[in-house]
Amino acid sequence: SANAGATAAGSAVSSNSGGGSVGPIQQRSPLAGRANMWNMLWAWSVKMRAPMGDLLSWQRVNHFPEAKQLTRKDLLKRHMVRHQIMHGSNSRVAHLFCCLPTTFVLPKEGPVFTEAFHKAAYGVECSVTQPKGLNLWIVKPVGQSRGRGIKLVRSARQLADSPGGFGTPDDSLVVQRYVTNPMMVQGYKFDLRLYVLVTSFTPLEAWLCQEGFARFATAPFTLDEAQLENRHMHLTNSSVQKSRVERGEVPDFLKKAHPAGGSKLSLTALQRLLELQQVDWSVLWEKIVEVVLACLFVVQDAIPSNPNAFELFGFDVLIDDHGCVWVLEVNSSPSFSLDTPLDRSIKPRMIRDAVAIVDPLPFDRAALQEVLAARTANKPRAARPGPRFMAGSAA
Ligand code: ADP
Repeated sequence: SANAGATAAGSAVSSNSGGGSVGPIQQRSPLAGRANMWNMLWAWSVKMRAPMGDLLSWQRVNHFPEAKQLTRKDLLKRHMVRHQIMHGSNSRVAHLFCCLPTTFVLPKEGPVFTEAFHKAAYGVECSVTQPKGLNLWIVKPVGQSRGRGIKLVRSARQLADSPGGFGTPDDSLVVQRYVTNPMMVQGYKFDLRLYVLVTSFTPLEAWLCQEGFARFATAPFTLDEAQLENRHMHLTNSSVQKSRVERGEVPDFLKKAHPAGGSKLSLTALQRLLELQQVDWSVLWEKIVEVVLACLFVVQDAIPSNPNAFELFGFDVLIDDHGCVWVLEVNSSPSFSLDTPLDRSIKPRMIRDAVAIVDPLPFDRAALQEVLAARTANKPRAARPGPRFMAGSAA
């Protein structure tokens, strides 16, 4: 009956990691007092821990407790390899599970990486095909984001010199085959940020947002050895490109884009530019859908079913000049910051759509109060409850 005292209508609740408004949910049982007076919790931090086991049936939280199976590069790789083995190289679907560039976690997988590295040096290709004589890998520190600490290496010596390389066993590095033939627009490399809303892993129900971002490098791409350290050429993160964007050092097609997105374009704008280059967008989009589905499919049995959970994932994919789609990583908390007019035209619409799809049941505190008051007074109810009441009292 603690609920009966509340009168404000329940509605979607959101918080951000800085605001700390998720505190009460961590500290109190949602069954106590007013803590269950919400129907949707969307926290902008993976560290948020709602007590998933104690939630009421109408409460939805934007996180699957085992989502790391999808978002950690080493775990995703393990699931992909499991499915490659399960489906065998001859099966019709086997190619779907080869959408990650060959990846190793160091120092744990040092010996297998060394073997793959040397084989690649002698022309035995792993996933990504590179020009003869080139053996290029990209090294990414685990636990860092926005391009920080990333570098390209083409010799074991360079790798050993990397912080967290073989020399310092405590730090983990992800070392991945570098895609040397990215699809480009007017000579500039890009990757895609796609948004995928998962409303259930078992059975799988996922929604791929039609709109998203193409994130561009601002220096024209080459494989010149002297330019391997040029982050503005090889990395497409907006944070890496920011200084050049501020100085106006971006290609014309980005300058002309409307709404302006700095070093980003909308997928719609990308589609127009690619069609000018005779790329068939519908074929590409079909492959993108297949690859997204493959990632969700391989982790499906490792993420327990949870009717309270949903999650909007950020998929980073790179397309090569043969139209192959490579998954770089899946992010659990894609940025919703509104830094550019393009962000403002896409992200709020996408969040609105996601909330509409999740469609948390309305929670009518006033109706509940009325019913509880009538019950405790032991009087028969005057009128049959409407559907809003049924929704509110479903638990
Ligand atoms: P972070 O989490 O720091 O953003 P990413 O894995 O997304 O790290 O890599 C940052 C950027 O580096 C990507 O946006 C992409 O442009 C480039 N990149 C990453 N992996 C590869 C790869 N295997 N081949 C080619 N480019 C890559």
